[in-house]
Order: sequence, then structure tokens, then C-alpha cells
Amino acid sequence: LNPIYAELPTTIFEVMSQLARTHEAVNLGQGFPDDPGPEDVRRTAADAVVNGWNQYPPMMGLPELRAAAATHYRRWQGLELDPDAEVMVTSGATEALAGALLALIEPGDEVVLFQPLYDAYLPLVKRAGGIPKLVRLEPPSWSITREALAAAFSERTKLVLFNNPQNPTGVVYGHAELALLAEFCVAFDAYAVSDEVWEHVIFDGVAFTSLMALPGMRERTVKISSAGKIFGMTGWKVGLVFAAPPLMKVLSKAHQFLTFTTPPNLQVAVAYGLGKADDYFTGMRADLQRSRDRLAQGLAGLGFSVLPSAGTYFLSIDLAAHTNGADDEAFCLDLVRTFGVATIPVSAFYAQDAVKSVVRFCFAKRDETIDRALERLAKVT
Ligand code: PMP
Ligand code: GLN
Repeated sequence: LNPIYAELPTTIFEVMSQLARTHEAVNLGQGFPDDPGPEDVRRTAADAVVNGWNQYPPMMGLPELRAAAATHYRRWQGLELDPDAEVMVTSGATEALAGALLALIEPGDEVVLFQPLYDAYLPLVKRAGGIPKLVRLEPPSWSITREALAAAFSERTKLVLFNNPQNPTGVVYGHAELALLAEFCVAFDAYAVSDEVWEHVIFDGVAFTSLMALPGMRERTVKISSAGKIFGMTGWKVGLVFAAPPLMKVLSKAHQFLTFTTPPNLQVAVAYGLGKADDYFTGMRADLQRSRDRLAQGLAGLGFSVLPSAGTYFLSIDLAAHTNGADDEAFCLDLVRTFGVATIPVSAFYAQDAVKSVVRFCFAKRDETIDRALERLAKVT
């Protein structure tokens, strides 16, 4: 048995969703909306199945989806992407991450990662033979400093694995931090795998900048997107990968023997959806921002210390403001078992030196779901 997997616990998302079912809890743990997603996009997928889109599509993805993606990212992020040479469709961002890490890392290469880290990253890096170099981020700002990057990068750095907007913190890194990271990537001639699955889920009128758009980064960045997040249908495993042709050639070799393709009806529907009018995307942001504010105000009203969230489906509270030696995991277990609300302890996103006082809530829920959770949380304080 490979110890990387043999010693790996079940992912916290699955653990908490299972506990939520057992305790009939309101599930604000695992990040998924309780709305069904845009009806026209769902109908396009259903019609495509009925109309015969059921055999292997091309390995790189349907040409109509790759073209739609290039148009979409020119419109939204100012990126110029060649749909024939720089766009690939994968079975979710998770496959894209696995493929990128397998394709780029050689055993012994150092990989710079940021904690808290999305839980899939570390096992994937290790399985690819990478040596993790962890940059530890802390609340409330979770800021990335020059000193921290200088300590993590070295002549042996092959790539940095970056997530922006960031799960679980809800931080959206802006130009200053992106420029700093780009400076290190260029100086150390490192690749960047930029997990940008939350790119459309940003609030307060902020515009999203891809790491790929920074000077010096176009040729060295693998940008990863996810239709599951763009359309709020997290079970739709349709990922998009963008990279310059020499990189894409190698990434496509990993993809060809991981999954080879992605269900064609979903690709047809995502191609359609990416072309939706701007107000679909701005409307989604506005709806989620309202939900964020509803939960944040409710939690603050109950006396919790709420950390800012600029993007993603998530906001966090910091227990340290109330308790010395707070234990987020114990808090979350008590919350789901005794009070019937499932959340995620952020310490689960650290491999070492965990911050143990931060608890993540998913707010991508209907008002009544948020209110029901708040009623239950009122009994905690
Ligand atoms: N990266 C991050 C940061 C995520 O939050 C998620 C999903 N929650 C993924 C990757 C996985 O995306 P997908 O479902 O498209 O595989
Ligand atoms: N990305 C989701 C979250 O952060 C969970 C994904 C999963 O369950 N694997 O909640």
C-alpha cells in the first residue's frame, strides 16, 4: 500500500457531510449551493443527452467549448487564448490539478504551497514526487509576504501551486500580492499552477485578475477553472485548463491517460453557459453577496468574530477572539452533534503548525437555510 494514501484520513468535507446527515444538521460545511443552478444550462445538458451527445468527444474537449472558453476569458479577464493550442477540457478542476502536477513535477522537485491549503493539494504533490515547501498564512489578513516567499523558494523550486480566490479563507489576492508572487516565479524560473476555480465568485465590485495576466507569467502559468463553480453546480465535473502550447502539450499527455475525456453533454451545456450575458454572472455575484452578508450579520449579531470574505462560497469566524486555546475541531464536532449545524474546521487545511481557531461556513444557501442555521447557533452563545 502506498503510505501517502494509506495514511490519508477521509477528506473533512465527506466527514462533515456524513455527520450532517447523521445528526440532521443544517449543512454549512461542504461547499455547494442549495439552488439547482441555471435552468437553461441544465436543459441544454439534458437536451444534448437526448440528441445523441453520448460518445467519446475529442480528447482536448469539444471545439465549441474550447472556442467559448477563449471568448469568455477574453471578455472577463482580458486573456488572449488560442482555443486550438491553449485550452483543454478536463473532468473537473481536480483532474486538471492532478494532471498538471503529474506532468510538471519530477521526483525531488520542490513545490511551494500556501497553508491553509485546499485538501487535495498535498497528497497530489507528494504522489507526484514533489517536496512541499509550505508558506503559512494567518488570520485575519492571510497576507503573503516577501519574507515568507523568500524562505520558501529556492533553486530547486519547480512550481508554485496557488489558489485565488482562496478556499477556505475567502481572500481574493490583488495586484500587489500577485506581482510579488510573479516576481519570485520569474526570478526562480518556476511554473505556477493557478487554481482559479472561484474566479467568478467575487464580491463588492472587485474585478478578478488571473496570475497568468501578470508580466512574465503568460508562458509559465497553468490556469485552472471549473464549470462546477462558474454555474454553481458542483457535481458537474468539467474543468478548463489554460496554458501556453509547450506546456499544454505535456499537460495533454497526463490528461489522455487520467480520464481522456469529459461527458459531452456537459461540455455542450458549459459551452452554452459561458456565453451567457454579463448579467447572469453579475447577478450570481449579487445573490451570493447578499447571502454572505445575511450570514455575516447574523453571526456578528450572535457575538461571533466574523472574518472578511471577498470571494468563494465561504466566510469564517475566529474563535480566538472569545476563547484562549480555541479548538476549531472540537467546536465543529460539538456544533454538528449538539446544535445541528455542520461547518468545517480550518485547521484541517494545514499540514503543520495549524491555526486552530478558525471555522468555515458555506453561505451559498437559501435565506431560510441560513436563518435556520442562525436560530440553532443562537443556542451556542
Ligand atoms: N480547487 C478548489 C480551491 C476548490 O475549492 C475545488 C472545489 N471545491 C476544486 C479545486 C475542485 O473543483 P472540481 O469540482 O471542478 O474538481
Ligand atoms: N470544494 C468543496 C469545499 O471546499 C468541497 C469539495 C469536496 O467535497 N471534495 O467545500
